[in-house]
Amino acid sequence: MTAGLVPSHLFYQSRLRRPTIARAEGVYIWDVEGRRYLDGSSGAMVSNIGHSNPRVLEAMREQMNRATFGYRLHFENEPAEQLASVIADLCPGDLDRVFFVSGGSEATETAIKLARSHKLAVGETTRWKVISRAPSYHGCTLGALAVSSYDPLTEPFAPMMREMPKVPAPRCYLDRDGLDPEQAGLRYAEMLRDRILAEGPESVLAFMMEPVGGATTGALVAPDSYYRRTREICDEFGILLIYDEVMTGVGRTGRFLAAEHWDAMPDIVALAKGFGAGYAPLGAVVAPQRIIEPVLDAGGFAHGFTYAGNPLACAAGLAVTREIVAHDLMGNTARIGDLLKAGMEGLMARFPFIGDVRGKGLLLAFELVADRQTMAPLPAHLDAYVRLVDIAYERGLIIYSRRTRGGREGDHFMVCPPMISDENHVDEILGKLTESLQVLEAQLNLSVAA
Ligand code: PMP
Repeated sequence: MTAGLVPSHLFYQSRLRRPTIARAEGVYIWDVEGRRYLDGSSGAMVSNIGHSNPRVLEAMREQMNRATFGYRLHFENEPAEQLASVIADLCPGDLDRVFFVSGGSEATETAIKLARSHKLAVGETTRWKVISRAPSYHGCTLGALAVSSYDPLTEPFAPMMREMPKVPAPRCYLDRDGLDPEQAGLRYAEMLRDRILAEGPESVLAFMMEPVGGATTGALVAPDSYYRRTREICDEFGILLIYDEVMTGVGRTGRFLAAEHWDAMPDIVALAKGFGAGYAPLGAVVAPQRIIEPVLDAGGFAHGFTYAGNPLACAAGLAVTREIVAHDLMGNTARIGDLLKAGMEGLMARFPFIGDVRGKGLLLAFELVADRQTMAPLPAHLDAYVRLVDIAYERGLIIYSRRTRGGREGDHFMVCPPMISDENHVDEILGKLTESLQVLEAQLNLSVAA
């Protein structure tokens, strides 16, 4: 769908232009032509508390009237201090030191540099390699991209980046070779151990992963054994475990951090997206004192962005987190997420080309396949991941899709409405999704082995 605008001076990734947004409220967005869309992916899993929340807007107005910027090397500011303290309270375990940034790429890159600074400070200077998963996405700046694995984004820039080791993401749903889920999870975790040994454990700094996969793996959840075992392996070799919770954090999976679903706490966490929730560019890195103190003792963290701890962004983040707590949006996410997931599983009976439904809380996805038994993907030339999004868009439902690259391909679709969604929104999403899948089925003449 191209639309609306005459050629402009603005550019994004491609020539694709979408309708112009006019206003947004709750889970809905209206364009300038008056069409209404249900924001079924919260943008890119960002608008977690919905649009135009009056209390967040008021908190931002209040802060605007006081000060919108105070450079952190000149002034402390109250919203940043208060927000750090709220985050420390909401995060599990000993995660209680907060470093602010302005988005996800900044957060993951900061997490990596913090890990390196920590190991330097404690005298483990040979450690620099960050092992991550393929596929994965940790951000588009060159440092964050080097630990990502998604060919369309990473390949063009490969010569400019230091190559970092990758292990396969635990896409156990593709492995139908008789292992039970716990064994399958362990098998993937052991691939990490093998890779560490191959690299030389003393050269490995950290293992970074999205605890529930995001854009490149479509809400991928591993068996419990995977989380437990990867934590053990990191401990065995003194390697820091970094969770990229840019998409999963701040309640999206029904807990404040997705890490809380498993008995395997990370050493460093990256947050963004739902933290500013579309009200302000905001991200953070959270780590325990035991990671931070040696860095500060050794002379400080040689890193920081001009906008870090911006008072206006922090006032927005503070109001967003207060909203999540005051209205139990994490409880709502767990409840409504179960309902939506059950509905999506129901669609599998009607559409045999849905091969998998997965996710946690309101971070949900389904994958389309040519054959449910073999999980063979739909042919790439069908462009199913583009088509279905456009079909749904025309029916006033926004979903988010990608075709997995690097390894086994597959078209997946993320259904991640705001955490304020209710039963009626679930019905509307499922109704529009059903209609859209019917149109896709007819368009592609899909006859798929069930
Ligand atoms: N990490 C993850 C898991 C993400 O999903 C994203 C964004 N899709 C990023 C990092 C990068 O965030 P940003 O686009 O805010 O830089």
